[in-house]
Amino acid sequence: MSTLFTKIIQGEIPADIVYQDDLVTAFRDINPAAPTHILIVPNKEIPTVNDLTEEDEQVAGHLFLVAKKLAEQEGVAENGYRLIVNCNKHGGQEVFHLHLHLIGGRSLGPMILRQ
Ligand code: 5GP
Repeated sequence: MSTLFTKIIQGEIPADIVYQDDLVTAFRDINPAAPTHILIVPNKEIPTVNDLTEEDEQVAGHLFLVAKKLAEQEGVAENGYRLIVNCNKHGGQEVFHLHLHLIGGRSLGPMILRQ
């Protein structure tokens, strides 16, 4: 069965898609944590970072280059932003289709909530 993000990539579920090419698709998060919150997703279904293989090297690198481009487009590059990849339970991953969160547009505070 397709992941939620595959359904978005294939246009079966609506989303605010801001970028798409042969390797990745980027769309706005439905529940944004900051003024800019974009998810950059490989078109290929890779569940988590743990599932990356050598053959995914190009797409993994491409996620970062697209993030850089979108940060510029969104006007957050100069002030700065955060890129987050959650993995599995302790990482707080909810959707098991690898994605890079591009978050910016305000000061984001400390990187991790300390207990
Ligand atoms: P994770 O916790 O897996 O790293 O992040 C999943 C993200 O997907 C969350 O920030 C959540 O708000 C976002 N999300 C979940 N369902 C949808 C959806 O149907 N559409 C969009 N655009 N984002 C979604």
